Amino acid sequence: MKTIGVIGGMSWESSAEYYRLLNRYAKARLGGHHNARSLMATVDFADIEALQRAGDWDALGVQMAQAATQLERGGADLVLLATNTMHRVCASIEAAIAIPFLHIADPTGDALRAAGVTRVGLLGTRYTMEQDFYVGRLRSVHGIEALVPDERERMDVHRIIYDELCHGVVKAESRGMYQRVIEALAARGAQAVILGCTEITLLIKPEDSALPVFDTTALHAQAAVDWALEGQGHQGDLA
Ligand code: GLU
Repeated sequence: MKTIGVIGGMSWESSAEYYRLLNRYAKARLGGHHNARSLMATVDFADIEALQRAGDWDALGVQMAQAATQLERGGADLVLLATNTMHRVCASIEAAIAIPFLHIADPTGDALRAAGVTRVGLLGTRYTMEQDFYVGRLRSVHGIEALVPDERERMDVHRIIYDELCHGVVKAESRGMYQRVIEALAARGAQAVILGCTEITLLIKPEDSALPVFDTTALHAQAAVDWALEGQGHQGDLA
């Protein structure tokens, strides 16, 4: 089994979910007392969030590259960045390491294509919904058109991520707001919705959504385990 390196802490609420899922998927594949071999380099989200607000993506790229280098030096065979937003600076990571980097949009794009989805709603931070690094990759690499909520809704989706979900706060009224946003995306022709922020899975489960849900946290973790166990046996599906 190869060792999965995770750049975590953005926020640690979703990093904990990654840790749980990596181990569950490895156990589902291998059975017994197996779990995933992993390392996590955890940054301090207070620094990251302040640099995001300041728009200092160069400094953020330096921090992500340093964390990836720590993982590579520690023996990781693969690097995951456990946040969609910070993929804005993934080129800095890829330039800093010799081991593979698994982009979060790729397992998601693969799953959408396998499901025949060509038009998808995207929920995430304003950075993810409004800048081109994510929507552009879905279009250019996967041929998928991403629809984002209107401006007022984007502000609410973003605020709930930073003010609630990143603090582990899950509110029914916020779930209702996300549900209305998903319904509006469906009305505009979205065939499915991407939970394009690694904390949204804490708020929205498949049964909460009017559209089929593509959860980036779960798809990313699953793809990493598949990569780490390539060529190893399968003991059964997740319960
Ligand atoms: N975890 C979130 C994401 O997937 C947002 C936190 C961050 O800014 O990294 O985009």
